[in-house]
Amino acid sequence: MKVLVIGSGGREHALVWKLRQSPRVEKIYCAPGNAGIGELAELAPINPDRLDDLAAFAEKEKIDLTVVGPELPLVLGIAELFEKKGLRVFAPGRAAARLEGSKAFAKEILQENNIPTAAFGAFSAAAAAKKYLAGLKPPYVIKADGLAAGKGVLICAVREEAESAVDDVLVRRLFGAAGEKVVIEEFLAGEEASFMMLTDGEHILPLASSQDHKRVFDGDEGPNTGGMGAYSPAPAVTPEIHRRIAEEILTPLLRGLKKRGIRYRGVLYVGLMLTADGPKVLEFNARFGDPECQPLMARLKSDLVPLIEATIDGRLDQVKAEWHDEPAVCVVLTAGGYPGEYEKGKEIHGLDALKDWRNGAVFHAGTVKKDGRWLTAGGRVLGVTARGKDIAAAVAEAYRAVEKIHWEGMHYRKDIAKRALVSGL
Ligand code: AMP
Repeated sequence: MKVLVIGSGGREHALVWKLRQSPRVEKIYCAPGNAGIGELAELAPINPDRLDDLAAFAEKEKIDLTVVGPELPLVLGIAELFEKKGLRVFAPGRAAARLEGSKAFAKEILQENNIPTAAFGAFSAAAAAKKYLAGLKPPYVIKADGLAAGKGVLICAVREEAESAVDDVLVRRLFGAAGEKVVIEEFLAGEEASFMMLTDGEHILPLASSQDHKRVFDGDEGPNTGGMGAYSPAPAVTPEIHRRIAEEILTPLLRGLKKRGIRYRGVLYVGLMLTADGPKVLEFNARFGDPECQPLMARLKSDLVPLIEATIDGRLDQVKAEWHDEPAVCVVLTAGGYPGEYEKGKEIHGLDALKDWRNGAVFHAGTVKKDGRWLTAGGRVLGVTARGKDIAAAVAEAYRAVEKIHWEGMHYRKDIAKRALVSGL
């Protein structure tokens, strides 16, 4: 079959890499992809928000299956458009993707179904938002309602800062249209974990557990980023917590969505805080997390195509996902300065030395190739992903590979998976 993957990050590179291993797949296209993906797939220069052009491309190239990586096309309604044209697509519909597209909507669904989450208020007027703040204790959690590329959450230690954050969202509009509403939440303390699953709206197929690292510096210091690394499995999600997540969160969520006439088909990512009172929902994503997708694809033993088909066709109860026992670790290499300002166009050295790397893969997130040279083209540049017999071996293998790569200003965290190491997996 011919497959089209939409997106251009490390997540999409990992998906393309995995799909290429399927005996069912003859050819892969990626729109728009990146230079690394271009080594495995034919690139089509169409951005993920140009839904009509993507559909026209899929029709012209007789694509049998389209796999959507990022959130924007989901929220814009790619599932509906492709289905109307009779094109098979692995993507939740627009209404389902609102779980990610609007934090206020997600909170409403959670509240409606008594699913544990932080207490909250949603406001479109700054005065009302500030009045609500006055009744809360610090720290304050302020969120832009809409899609803000993982950067729309502000955690403020003092009231004045929180009030200013409300103005940033609603008045100064630092997050553009994502800031038509602001969500203010109770601060939850605990360890973060994420839980990803495939669902066809009726059945759930949990994916292996994983954990990412959001802050830019070691020891979880500095601003939040799109993700500086990830590992799988995540020992924080014990079998008992897994059971509670399924019982207290996933089952009532699917029931609640169905009650609203929403059938969720695709990947659902639940961001959780493991609090003293049990797991509570922080957020939903309507797609694979990035970088978490990279260690997940490195560990997935089963062919991805039948799992995707079962999701689309509502047969998830009939398939199983098998995983390599070996843990996997992904270290993200970024441009110096990211997530603030950074430079592009730096020459990347050392990739050739990893061409035949047996225990891992280098997934590209922001690269271009010019005259045979690899250049940086984004904030997150590469995801170096390795497997090992245990988490310590996977970490060592990933960092051994990282040491072979360099460019001017390259930055990465040196403590990826440290918490898993401490827990002695
Ligand atoms: P979100 O995009 O909603 O997951 O928020 C991004 C990050 O902000 C999360 O991964 C947490 O680290 C932090 N965060 C969000 N909401 C809360 C909360 N209610 N309490 C504590 N931390 C939070």
